[in-house]
Amino acid sequence: MFIPRRRGVKDGVSVSAGMTAAGRTAWTALRLPAAEHVFVHAAGEPFASDDPATGETVATLASSTPADVDAAVASAQRAFAASRWASDGVLRARVLHRFADALRADAARLAELLTREQGKTIHEAHAELHGAAKMVDYYAGLARAVSGRSLVLAPNVHGVVLREPCGVVAVITPWNWPLVLLVRSLAPALAAGNACVVKPASLTAAVTVETLALLAAQPDLPEGVLTCVLGSGAVVGEQLVGHAGIDMVAFTGETETGIRVMKRAADGLRKVALELGGKAPNVVFADADLDKALAGAENAIFTTCGQICTAGSRLLVEDAIHDSFLERLAADVEQLRVGDGLDERSQLGPVVSRAQRDKILAYVEAGRREGTLVAGGSALDGPEHQRGWFVSPAVFADLPAGSSLVRDEIFGPVLTVQRFADEAEAVALANDTEYGLAAGVWTRDVDRAWRVGRAIRAGTIWINTYHHFYDEAEVGGFKRSGIGRQQGVEGLYEFTETKHLNFDGNASLW
Ligand code: NDP
Repeated sequence: MFIPRRRGVKDGVSVSAGMTAAGRTAWTALRLPAAEHVFVHAAGEPFASDDPATGETVATLASSTPADVDAAVASAQRAFAASRWASDGVLRARVLHRFADALRADAARLAELLTREQGKTIHEAHAELHGAAKMVDYYAGLARAVSGRSLVLAPNVHGVVLREPCGVVAVITPWNWPLVLLVRSLAPALAAGNACVVKPASLTAAVTVETLALLAAQPDLPEGVLTCVLGSGAVVGEQLVGHAGIDMVAFTGETETGIRVMKRAADGLRKVALELGGKAPNVVFADADLDKALAGAENAIFTTCGQICTAGSRLLVEDAIHDSFLERLAADVEQLRVGDGLDERSQLGPVVSRAQRDKILAYVEAGRREGTLVAGGSALDGPEHQRGWFVSPAVFADLPAGSSLVRDEIFGPVLTVQRFADEAEAVALANDTEYGLAAGVWTRDVDRAWRVGRAIRAGTIWINTYHHFYDEAEVGGFKRSGIGRQQGVEGLYEFTETKHLNFDGNASLW
């Protein structure tokens, strides 16, 4: 996964011709679903997705009616019951590998669409595309390795423990990393042999549909194994989660929405996998490599403009270096360039929507009253910014522990800095949150790194690094950050049911 660096352009990332000296390239808004998108069941009211840098319409899409949701689920049920998909790992691997290849081949077009719809920098969009392709390849490999175990249970009695697909999986995705977070559920679900109905976030529906179209176009993919519905979560998402034909819901989004999804799924006793919010601590000890820790702290919070569940939004700094570290951080942050994501010079793009910007600015206002604003924290409205939702990255110090800025997931470029006296206080502050998704620890003391890493209750702990994800390594939340794990082998088995086949070869039963 690529994260924007503090300054400049990452070497070796090619960028599509989105921004020229004369300005943006001409862009015709997409109309979806187009004729080739037959896997999308959406014949209802239109809705638009807009470019957060300019306010222009990127795409007009149709939302799904209740009949569309029924049709999408029924189609997936038929495919699951009748096709070879569930039982043919070689077929699944072939389709997924070809999907990954298609993603790479179309990376320039999709990256530009991703930046236009989501706002992230074009460098990050390319990295997201290639990260998604890599993850699909990983699960394509595992599609041929869905395995159980055999048991000798008594003389002449054998058991075979099998992993079988759950059936029809609803995959509901957020807008911040819409492609990586799509394939993080979709690829293992398909690799395990399920049929999937995808409901993308409306804000990034166009880039999701265009990505899924590359999978749907694979000639070996049985019809109905992939379907898609569109429209608001409160209407279409709710209907999908409560649909009798759904066997499992894989949801990535806000904690409150996840709780709602779980309650609704409980009515049908449907299995759920929930990847939810976070408020990650990033702990810097005085003995750390401070240059590296500084770069890591900025990367941790300002990736995707802070709109990332693992954002290191709470920086905890040891007393001895607190003031000097904060001074360097503030000076750096003031230099960050916020602009159109298609402009290669931008280090942060706009936030995703007006509502998101207003929510972030409300937190900044609260922070001004409760603590010290050390850098940034304003709506940008210069000539380059006036049509979009741009916020300068903000750093706060001296906030009370109970401040909403310290406790809430803001999902924006807002960093709080707290000081600690010793290791025990660092751990206590790190764990003083209802979330448990990720954390960072910066120290040269190996023993302490292990101790603190074990003591913090979170699904991923980065030591002397941040935001490096590996397909092979599980991610997920403790506490209110989720249920279940994604990525890695556990991420595959999340989408299976375990079955015990028992053979008794003895002459009599008892
Ligand atoms: P939301 O919870 O608002 O939405 C996520 C998805 O759920 C969207 O597709 C949305 O549709 C849909 N949805 C909304 N309400 C319902 C409902 N009642 N029933 C079913 N589906 C519904 O999250 P955001 O899209 O705003 O994403 C940001 C959040 O996601 C943050 O809290 C972030 O921490 C979390 N997240 C967690 C990750 C993790 O791995 N733990 C990774 C990335 C993000 P629509 O938007 O179209 O209305």
